[in-house]
Amino acid sequence: MLNFFRKKLLRIRNFKARRTNEKTYIDTKGYRRFKDSDISVHRWMASKKLGRPLKNKEVVHHKDRNKLNNSPDNLHVFASQKEHWETHKQDAKKYGWKYSLKGKPKTRY
Ligand SMILES: [Zn+2]
Repeated sequence: MLNFFRKKLLRIRNFKARRTNEKTYIDTKGYRRFKDSDISVHRWMASKKLGRPLKNKEVVHHKDRNKLNNSPDNLHVFASQKEHWETHKQDAKKYGWKYSLKGKPKTRY
């Protein structure tokens, strides 16, 4: 009888955990954001990495061009959108815009 209740309790706990784990969503531009604050995850992560809040002008860049890869190693902070855009322009020259904005095609290595 005790076991039965324990199992039931665990199931409820798991259900709640699954629901509360969804703290983020993907916005229309393809970036992940926190539901509660609407802060983008890559900017939040970058400011954690730098140990200070980001300035408004600063732009966070995904090194592998994958907008959803928000691991600190993959993020680079540019002082301005202009500098950031230079990198993408260089990319586009070398590999084309598709690569620059969406990352390497999965089939090509
Ligand atoms: Zn970028």
